Amino acid sequence: MSSLRILVTGCKGRMGQAVIRAVEADSSSEVGAMIDMGDSLEDALAKSDVVIDFTSHHFSSVLVEACLKLRKPLVMGTTGHTNEERETIRAASAKLPIVLAANFSVGVNTLFWLTRKAVNILGPDFDLEVIEMHHNKKMDSPSGTARRLVEILCEETKVSYENDTRHGRHGDVGARTKKEIGVHALRGGDVVGDHTVVFAGQGERVELTHKASSRDTFATGAVRAARWLFDKKPGLYDMQDVLGLK
Ligand code: NAD
Repeated sequence: MSSLRILVTGCKGRMGQAVIRAVEADSSSEVGAMIDMGDSLEDALAKSDVVIDFTSHHFSSVLVEACLKLRKPLVMGTTGHTNEERETIRAASAKLPIVLAANFSVGVNTLFWLTRKAVNILGPDFDLEVIEMHHNKKMDSPSGTARRLVEILCEETKVSYENDTRHGRHGDVGARTKKEIGVHALRGGDVVGDHTVVFAGQGERVELTHKASSRDTFATGAVRAARWLFDKKPGLYDMQDVLGLK
Protein backbone atom coordinates (compact mmCIF):
# COMPACT_ATOMS: atom_id res chain seq x y z
CA MET A 1 0.00 0.00 0.00
CA SER A 2 1.18 3.54 -0.65
CA SER A 3 1.97 5.78 2.30
CA LEU A 4 -0.99 6.50 4.63
CA ARG A 5 -1.79 10.22 4.54
CA ILE A 6 -2.61 11.47 8.01
CA LEU A 7 -4.41 14.71 8.86
CA VAL A 8 -3.03 16.05 12.16
CA THR A 9 -5.53 18.34 13.89
CA GLY A 10 -4.27 20.60 16.68
CA CYS A 11 -0.87 20.64 14.94
CA LYS A 12 0.43 23.56 17.03
CA GLY A 13 -0.37 21.86 20.33
CA ARG A 14 1.80 19.67 22.56
CA MET A 15 0.28 16.43 21.26
CA GLY A 16 -0.08 17.65 17.67
CA GLN A 17 3.67 18.34 17.56
CA ALA A 18 4.42 14.89 19.00
CA VAL A 19 2.14 13.26 16.38
CA ILE A 20 3.94 15.08 13.55
CA ARG A 21 7.28 13.75 14.90
CA ALA A 22 5.83 10.22 15.15
CA VAL A 23 4.42 10.31 11.60
CA GLU A 24 7.73 11.59 10.25
CA ALA A 25 9.53 8.71 11.98
CA ASP A 26 7.12 6.13 10.51
CA SER A 27 8.06 4.80 7.06
CA SER A 28 4.48 3.76 6.19
CA SER A 29 2.72 7.09 6.79
CA GLU A 30 3.10 10.77 6.00
CA VAL A 31 1.49 14.05 7.09
CA GLY A 32 -1.22 14.59 4.45
CA ALA A 33 -2.29 17.88 6.03
CA MET A 34 -2.24 19.67 9.35
CA ILE A 35 -4.58 22.23 10.83
CA ASP A 36 -5.00 24.28 13.96
CA MET A 37 -7.55 26.84 15.10
CA GLY A 38 -9.05 28.78 12.18
CA ASP A 39 -7.77 26.55 9.34
CA SER A 40 -10.12 24.93 6.79
CA LEU A 41 -11.04 21.42 7.88
CA GLU A 42 -12.66 20.25 4.64
CA ASP A 43 -9.65 21.14 2.45
CA ALA A 44 -7.34 19.29 4.85
CA LEU A 45 -9.62 16.23 4.99
CA ALA A 46 -9.64 16.01 1.20
CA LYS A 47 -5.82 15.58 1.25
CA SER A 48 -5.85 12.79 3.86
CA ASP A 49 -6.80 9.13 4.33
CA VAL A 50 -7.28 9.19 8.12
CA VAL A 51 -7.38 11.78 10.93
CA ILE A 52 -5.50 11.93 14.23
CA ASP A 53 -7.12 14.44 16.58
CA PHE A 54 -5.69 15.93 19.77
CA THR A 55 -7.49 19.28 20.14
CA SER A 56 -10.40 20.22 22.40
CA HIS A 57 -13.66 18.38 23.08
CA HIS A 58 -15.51 21.54 21.89
CA PHE A 59 -14.26 20.70 18.37
CA SER A 60 -15.17 17.00 18.39
CA SER A 61 -18.77 17.21 17.10
CA VAL A 62 -17.76 19.40 14.13
CA LEU A 63 -14.85 17.08 13.34
CA VAL A 64 -16.97 13.93 13.54
CA GLU A 65 -19.59 15.42 11.18
CA ALA A 66 -16.91 16.39 8.64
CA CYS A 67 -15.26 12.95 8.84
CA LEU A 68 -18.65 11.30 8.28
CA LYS A 69 -19.34 13.49 5.25
CA LEU A 70 -15.98 12.73 3.62
CA ARG A 71 -15.75 9.12 4.95
CA LYS A 72 -12.41 9.57 6.71
CA PRO A 73 -11.64 7.20 9.62
CA LEU A 74 -10.90 9.05 12.86
CA VAL A 75 -8.42 8.43 15.68
CA MET A 76 -9.73 10.57 18.54
CA GLY A 77 -7.24 11.29 21.31
CA THR A 78 -8.99 14.38 22.67
CA THR A 79 -10.44 13.91 26.15
CA GLY A 80 -12.90 15.73 28.43
CA HIS A 81 -16.05 15.03 26.39
CA THR A 82 -19.49 15.75 27.83
CA ASN A 83 -22.02 12.91 27.78
CA GLU A 84 -23.67 14.58 24.76
CA GLU A 85 -20.37 14.75 22.84
CA ARG A 86 -19.61 11.12 23.68
CA GLU A 87 -23.04 10.20 22.31
CA THR A 88 -22.34 12.10 19.05
CA ILE A 89 -19.10 10.11 18.61
CA ARG A 90 -20.83 6.84 19.44
CA ALA A 91 -23.66 7.54 16.96
CA ALA A 92 -21.20 8.42 14.18
CA SER A 93 -19.37 5.13 14.69
CA ALA A 94 -22.35 3.29 13.18
CA LYS A 95 -21.13 4.60 9.81
CA LEU A 96 -17.48 5.47 10.45
CA PRO A 97 -14.50 3.58 11.91
CA ILE A 98 -13.40 5.50 15.03
CA VAL A 99 -10.73 4.75 17.63
CA LEU A 100 -11.56 6.66 20.82
CA ALA A 101 -8.89 6.20 23.46
CA ALA A 102 -8.24 8.12 26.64
CA ASN A 103 -4.64 6.97 26.41
CA PHE A 104 -2.61 5.52 23.55
CA SER A 105 0.36 4.22 25.52
CA VAL A 106 1.00 0.48 25.70
CA GLY A 107 1.88 0.88 29.39
CA VAL A 108 -1.41 2.54 30.30
CA ASN A 109 -3.37 -0.06 28.37
CA THR A 110 -1.55 -2.69 30.42
CA LEU A 111 -2.60 -0.72 33.53
CA PHE A 112 -6.24 -0.88 32.34
CA TRP A 113 -5.91 -4.66 31.98
CA LEU A 114 -4.20 -5.08 35.39
CA THR A 115 -6.81 -2.89 37.10
CA ARG A 116 -9.62 -5.09 35.83
CA LYS A 117 -7.79 -8.20 37.07
CA ALA A 118 -6.82 -6.72 40.46
CA VAL A 119 -10.28 -5.47 41.40
CA ASN A 120 -11.73 -8.93 40.82
CA ILE A 121 -8.95 -10.76 42.72
CA LEU A 122 -9.03 -8.38 45.72
CA GLY A 123 -12.82 -8.32 45.97
CA PRO A 124 -15.34 -6.07 47.75
CA ASP A 125 -13.36 -5.51 50.99
CA PHE A 126 -10.90 -3.18 49.28
CA ASP A 127 -11.66 0.55 48.96
CA LEU A 128 -10.90 1.98 45.51
CA GLU A 129 -9.38 5.38 44.75
CA VAL A 130 -7.74 6.84 41.64
CA ILE A 131 -5.12 9.61 41.74
CA GLU A 132 -3.82 11.44 38.68
CA MET A 133 -1.27 14.21 38.18
CA HIS A 134 -0.73 16.34 35.07
CA HIS A 135 1.06 19.53 34.00
CA ASN A 136 -0.30 22.94 34.99
CA LYS A 137 -1.78 23.68 31.52
CA LYS A 138 -4.19 20.74 31.41
CA MET A 139 -7.73 21.95 30.74
CA ASP A 140 -9.95 19.02 31.77
CA SER A 141 -10.32 17.11 35.03
CA PRO A 142 -10.22 14.30 35.85
CA SER A 143 -7.98 13.16 33.01
CA GLY A 144 -9.54 10.92 30.38
CA THR A 145 -7.28 8.11 31.58
CA ALA A 146 -8.40 8.52 35.20
CA ARG A 147 -12.01 8.50 34.02
CA ARG A 148 -11.39 5.29 32.06
CA LEU A 149 -9.75 3.67 35.12
CA VAL A 150 -12.79 4.60 37.24
CA GLU A 151 -15.14 3.31 34.51
CA ILE A 152 -13.31 -0.05 34.59
CA LEU A 153 -13.66 -0.18 38.40
CA CYS A 154 -17.37 0.73 38.08
CA GLU A 155 -17.97 -1.93 35.42
CA GLU A 156 -16.34 -4.65 37.51
CA THR A 157 -17.93 -3.68 40.87
CA LYS A 158 -21.36 -2.86 39.36
CA VAL A 159 -21.55 0.70 40.66
CA SER A 160 -22.53 3.83 38.76
CA TYR A 161 -19.95 6.29 37.40
CA GLU A 162 -22.48 9.14 37.62
CA ASN A 163 -23.69 8.45 41.19
CA ASP A 164 -20.87 6.68 43.02
CA THR A 165 -17.77 8.59 41.93
CA ARG A 166 -16.42 11.11 44.49
CA HIS A 167 -14.31 13.87 42.93
CA GLY A 168 -12.04 15.07 45.74
CA ARG A 169 -13.14 15.59 49.35
CA HIS A 170 -13.51 18.85 51.22
CA GLY A 171 -15.02 19.78 54.57
CA ASP A 172 -17.37 17.72 56.70
CA VAL A 173 -17.80 14.88 54.20
CA GLY A 174 -18.37 12.03 56.67
CA ALA A 175 -16.91 8.56 56.51
CA ARG A 176 -16.23 6.93 53.18
CA THR A 177 -19.10 4.79 51.92
CA LYS A 178 -18.43 1.24 50.75
CA LYS A 179 -19.55 1.94 47.20
CA GLU A 180 -17.82 5.22 46.49
CA ILE A 181 -14.76 5.48 44.25
CA GLY A 182 -12.62 8.54 44.97
CA VAL A 183 -10.93 10.45 42.13
CA HIS A 184 -8.24 13.05 42.83
CA ALA A 185 -6.60 15.38 40.32
CA LEU A 186 -3.20 17.01 41.03
CA ARG A 187 -1.88 19.74 38.71
CA GLY A 188 1.62 21.16 38.49
CA GLY A 189 4.84 21.66 36.58
CA ASP A 190 5.44 19.74 33.38
CA VAL A 191 4.13 16.32 34.46
CA VAL A 192 3.13 14.43 31.29
CA GLY A 193 0.75 12.05 33.09
CA ASP A 194 0.85 9.95 36.27
CA HIS A 195 -1.97 7.58 37.29
CA THR A 196 -2.29 5.43 40.40
CA VAL A 197 -5.10 3.05 41.30
CA VAL A 198 -5.23 2.40 45.05
CA PHE A 199 -6.83 -0.76 46.46
CA ALA A 200 -6.92 -0.20 50.24
CA GLY A 201 -7.82 -3.15 52.48
CA GLN A 202 -7.47 -3.97 56.19
CA GLY A 203 -3.78 -4.22 57.00
CA GLU A 204 -2.60 -4.01 53.40
CA ARG A 205 -2.76 -1.84 50.30
CA VAL A 206 -2.05 -2.47 46.63
CA GLU A 207 -1.14 0.43 44.31
CA LEU A 208 -0.80 0.18 40.55
CA THR A 209 1.04 3.14 39.04
CA HIS A 210 1.93 4.28 35.54
CA LYS A 211 4.09 7.34 34.85
CA ALA A 212 4.53 8.79 31.39
CA SER A 213 7.70 10.82 30.90
CA SER A 214 7.22 11.68 27.21
CA ARG A 215 4.25 12.48 24.97
CA ASP A 216 5.94 10.51 22.21
CA THR A 217 4.51 7.29 23.67
CA PHE A 218 0.93 8.58 23.08
CA ALA A 219 1.80 9.87 19.61
CA THR A 220 3.44 6.61 18.47
CA GLY A 221 0.39 4.70 19.74
CA ALA A 222 -1.96 7.05 17.87
CA VAL A 223 -0.07 6.49 14.59
CA ARG A 224 -0.22 2.74 15.18
CA ALA A 225 -3.99 3.11 15.76
CA ALA A 226 -4.36 5.08 12.50
CA ARG A 227 -2.62 2.34 10.49
CA TRP A 228 -4.76 -0.33 12.17
CA LEU A 229 -8.02 1.62 11.69
CA PHE A 230 -7.65 2.51 8.03
CA ASP A 231 -9.28 -0.63 6.56
CA LYS A 232 -11.63 -1.48 9.45
CA LYS A 233 -15.41 -1.63 9.30
CA PRO A 234 -17.40 1.16 10.96
CA GLY A 235 -17.39 0.82 14.74
CA LEU A 236 -16.20 2.37 17.96
CA TYR A 237 -12.82 0.87 18.86
CA ASP A 238 -10.32 1.59 21.61
CA MET A 239 -6.61 0.96 22.11
CA GLN A 240 -7.29 -2.46 23.62
CA ASP A 241 -8.71 -3.44 20.18
CA VAL A 242 -5.67 -1.98 18.39
CA LEU A 243 -3.26 -3.87 20.66
CA GLY A 244 -5.30 -7.11 20.48
CA LEU A 245 -5.83 -7.13 24.27
CA LYS A 246 -9.56 -8.01 24.04
P1 NAD B 1 -2.72 21.74 23.62
O1 NAD B 1 -3.54 22.82 24.22
O2 NAD B 1 -1.23 21.80 23.73
O3 NAD B 1 -3.07 21.59 22.06
C1 NAD B 1 -4.37 21.62 21.54
C2 NAD B 1 -4.27 22.24 20.16
O4 NAD B 1 -5.55 22.10 19.53
C3 NAD B 1 -3.95 23.76 20.20
O5 NAD B 1 -2.90 24.07 19.28
C4 NAD B 1 -5.27 24.39 19.80
O6 NAD B 1 -5.11 25.63 19.12
C5 NAD B 1 -5.85 23.32 18.89
N1 NAD B 1 -7.31 23.45 18.73
C6 NAD B 1 -8.22 23.66 19.71
N2 NAD B 1 -9.45 23.79 19.16
C7 NAD B 1 -9.28 23.65 17.82
C8 NAD B 1 -10.19 23.70 16.72
N3 NAD B 1 -11.48 23.98 16.89
N4 NAD B 1 -9.68 23.51 15.48
C9 NAD B 1 -8.36 23.26 15.29
N5 NAD B 1 -7.45 23.22 16.30
C10 NAD B 1 -7.93 23.42 17.54
O7 NAD B 1 -3.28 20.40 24.27
P2 NAD B 1 -2.57 18.95 24.30
O8 NAD B 1 -1.79 18.79 25.56
O9 NAD B 1 -1.92 18.69 22.99
O10 NAD B 1 -3.86 18.01 24.48
C11 NAD B 1 -4.91 18.01 23.51
C12 NAD B 1 -5.97 16.99 23.92
O11 NAD B 1 -5.41 15.67 23.91
C13 NAD B 1 -6.53 17.19 25.34
O12 NAD B 1 -7.90 16.85 25.33
C14 NAD B 1 -5.74 16.17 26.16
O13 NAD B 1 -6.39 15.78 27.33
C15 NAD B 1 -5.65 15.05 25.15
N6 NAD B 1 -4.57 14.05 25.39
C16 NAD B 1 -4.87 12.77 25.14
C17 NAD B 1 -3.89 11.79 25.23
C18 NAD B 1 -4.23 10.36 24.86
O14 NAD B 1 -3.34 9.48 24.90
N7 NAD B 1 -5.49 10.10 24.47
C19 NAD B 1 -2.59 12.14 25.62
C20 NAD B 1 -2.31 13.48 25.87
C21 NAD B 1 -3.31 14.45 25.74
